[in-house]
Amino acid sequence: MSWQTVLGFEVHIELATRSKMFCGCPADHFGKTPNSQTCPVCLGLPGALPVPNVRAVEWCIKLGLALNCQINRFSKFDRKNYFYPDLPKGYQISQYDQPFGHSGHLFLSSGKKIRITRVHLEEDTGKLQHAVVEGKKVSLIDFNRSGVPLVEIVTEPDFTDSSQSDEFLKEIQNIVRALDISRADMEKGSMRLEANISVMPAGQTNLPPYKVEVKNVNSFRFIKKAVDFEISRHIKLLESGKTPKQETRGYSESLGGTVSQRSKEEAHDYRYFPEPDIPPMTFTNSQINKWLQELPPLPEQIRSELISNFTLSSANAAIIASNQQMYNIFTQAVSDPEFSPKAIADVLINKRYGPVLPKTGNDLIKYLKSLNQTSISDSSQITEAVKKIISANPRAIADIKSGKQQALFYLIGLIKRDLGNVDISLVKKILIEQIL
Ligand SMILES: [Zn+2]
Repeated sequence: MSWQTVLGFEVHIELATRSKMFCGCPADHFGKTPNSQTCPVCLGLPGALPVPNVRAVEWCIKLGLALNCQINRFSKFDRKNYFYPDLPKGYQISQYDQPFGHSGHLFLSSGKKIRITRVHLEEDTGKLQHAVVEGKKVSLIDFNRSGVPLVEIVTEPDFTDSSQSDEFLKEIQNIVRALDISRADMEKGSMRLEANISVMPAGQTNLPPYKVEVKNVNSFRFIKKAVDFEISRHIKLLESGKTPKQETRGYSESLGGTVSQRSKEEAHDYRYFPEPDIPPMTFTNSQINKWLQELPPLPEQIRSELISNFTLSSANAAIIASNQQMYNIFTQAVSDPEFSPKAIADVLINKRYGPVLPKTGNDLIKYLKSLNQTSISDSSQITEAVKKIISANPRAIADIKSGKQQALFYLIGLIKRDLGNVDISLVKKILIEQIL
């Protein structure tokens, strides 16, 4: 029997706003002293009132627009109720039935369309740290992350293999970086991935009766491995007549596969209800249009411009478009007509300049010019210059033949002046050959 993978994603992105989602505490929590960036609001103390961060709302909607979403003109926050120690209020302020964005899509390079269910804004939770204090195992809570603006992007289960999801997830990171709303660093947790995976007989139209969630994977490479691992695990179970268990799994780097974390037999009931402390929001068409106009060039657009304007290969265009610094250097450097866009792209992509990118396009041009100057080691070009020098300097030749070394260096100097930076030992060799 042949099998078909059903794969969807939830992507969380922490927004790089100055302050948190509902209070004035700094949002940049990475590496800070635990619980040093908290207040009654993000600690969930009774009576504290949340005030939405307008910038975070704008950024979430812009991300929705960049992902071709419909933007709700009426939107609101809701309380998602559940208990966990890292959630001090006992509920998370999120969005339920009126997310900022819905019904979007992205196209993969193959032309396949990935539908985006929704893009909504919520608050991040605190962070649990498991440690041993005075010989006892304890769980410590750091609330610096509590209340940091968090965008959640949910896709439809449109992926059929891990290379499709790999391209999509990297594109999400590219878009977020192009919008400059987050660094979306996986290793710092500012971009987090959750895969929903199941497998069914090829051609079946109903979704499978189970799904496995893979959570807390912190690299593109690992999520790809985790998805591949899960697909073959499910197929093995299905082929032996079993149905994979509905559960949450994590990726273990040392095992190179996923491990069960908890089974999830019943669906959660979060008892969502409208957040009573934050009034609903309405957006006008002109407001949404203004934000749409403000979107920077997106990676897809940059790639096609690089291909059509500079005839770069699609692979090279993708590399340059995915790195803002590289893109800036490239566009500065191509304004100098002396070097072809292909040559400039080649130096940047293959790191010929060195492990660190040049600071500006100008630095790159200077480097390319110096390369040109030192690159003459072509013996036919040198031979031609040597012959010219020999016929124009009969006295020096006579001096050399009579053993005067000085005259040899004089001629080498003349050739160097003629050719620019040149391989001196090769010049000397050819010069002696031609004279004797
Ligand atoms: Zn706070």
